[in-house]
Amino acid sequence: MTNPYRQLPALAALLERPELVSVRATAGRDDVANALRTELETLRQRIAAGESPDGDLDPERIVERARISVERDSRAILRTVINATGIVLHTNLGRSPLPESAARAAFEAASGYLNLELDLETGERSSRQDPIRDGIRRLTGAEAATAVNNCAAATVIALRALAAGKEVVVSRGQLVEIGGGFRIPEILAVSGARLREVGTTNRTRIADYEKAIGPETGAILRVHASNFRIRGFTESVGIADLAALGRRHGLPVIDDIGSGAAVDLDLFASSGEPRVGDGIRAGADLVLFSGDKLLGGPQAGIVAGRKELIARIEKDPLMRAFRLDKMTLAALEATLRLYRDPERALRDVPTLRMLTVSLAELRTRAERIAERLRSVPGLDASALDDEAFAGGGSLPDRALPTVVVAMKAQGLSEDEMARRLRTGRPAVLARIQDGSVRLDPRTVFEHQEDELVSAVRSAVAGSP
Ligand SMILES: *Cc1c(COP(=O)(O)O)cnc(C)c1O
Repeated sequence: MTNPYRQLPALAALLERPELVSVRATAGRDDVANALRTELETLRQRIAAGESPDGDLDPERIVERARISVERDSRAILRTVINATGIVLHTNLGRSPLPESAARAAFEAASGYLNLELDLETGERSSRQDPIRDGIRRLTGAEAATAVNNCAAATVIALRALAAGKEVVVSRGQLVEIGGGFRIPEILAVSGARLREVGTTNRTRIADYEKAIGPETGAILRVHASNFRIRGFTESVGIADLAALGRRHGLPVIDDIGSGAAVDLDLFASSGEPRVGDGIRAGADLVLFSGDKLLGGPQAGIVAGRKELIARIEKDPLMRAFRLDKMTLAALEATLRLYRDPERALRDVPTLRMLTVSLAELRTRAERIAERLRSVPGLDASALDDEAFAGGGSLPDRALPTVVVAMKAQGLSEDEMARRLRTGRPAVLARIQDGSVRLDPRTVFEHQEDELVSAVRSAVAGSP
């Protein structure tokens, strides 16, 4: 009997096979050699265990398995997905897609050098915050502005710079959890300020704040409810009254609005979403909001308000840890620039465009996609009226009427179909409801429609 190990092809010979030329060029020789080694080792173990792997020993099969394994490993974990959920600010899918000008600015900042902290006129050092200050001032009416990594960081650094070691007065109705571990009491604790709760969950009056203010008080904080609403027997104190109270006692009033509308839209007004300038106009000393919620820009925490307070925040040692990187700064500057003309912002900021797209347009697109999908064998697809939510803690109780493509595939459960779509290439994220898998064109870019149709086709045809 021949030695079974003799049947194993030699690594060096496998490595030179023509089927591996392209994968060797992209993944590199070492990775391909390692994958082949792993395949050979597996076969060796199977032989040692008394198996006869026969066909699996065929060099063509070994090379093919190694090639698939290298390609799988070399595929980036983060990749573009098609968001067909209809949820515009989908936190797990990266919230706001950037406006094209912002994405381009980030790309250029990333791939070269830029005057990040240099004034090109004078040749002197400048602040990296300078390029974004003006845009935020225009939007909010504030006299000064700065930005950090996200709104959570903005809250921490504002509380720390203004009230570390002191008490911060907050209504019990505003001790919220935003999601992803952002809880106001914990944020306050890490800032070094002490929480002074006032009022009750549903009702807090100005007198409650007044009573809590004393020598230990460092600031008054208002937090927007973001992802929930309290209804019924409720009472809360508006920012104008809080601002007046703060002025009487010489205390800064911080308004954490989280999201905030930067353009005037009925949709925002009727959802009770504060405009980013409301707090400043009403007399708040600082307003905090996210760059990647309704503003529709990169992830950032924007701080707008009184010059002296912004200066204190920028001097805080945490600023070094929380400051924005060059790509984000470039993207934020470009996003803010679009708001100089609100019409332009509505057209060019994808988040705003998706939130305001007309029902008629959604219907046309859903019907067009459904029509194309009806040619997929075994698939039933039709346009259907439905509802979607903005997401990201914005407009929480406001269902947006939409039109989806509702799909059913023969012999395929909704869960299995959704799984295949999610793990396909490109990955497609859909909603499941009432026995159908639903694709909402609101969050699908028009240029993705071809890919979407072929992704559904592959998902129905077989597991990827
Ligand atoms: C979303 C939100 C935050 C957190 O913002 P991130 O940018 O996600 O860190 C903070 N406060 C409020 C009121 C929010 O809605």
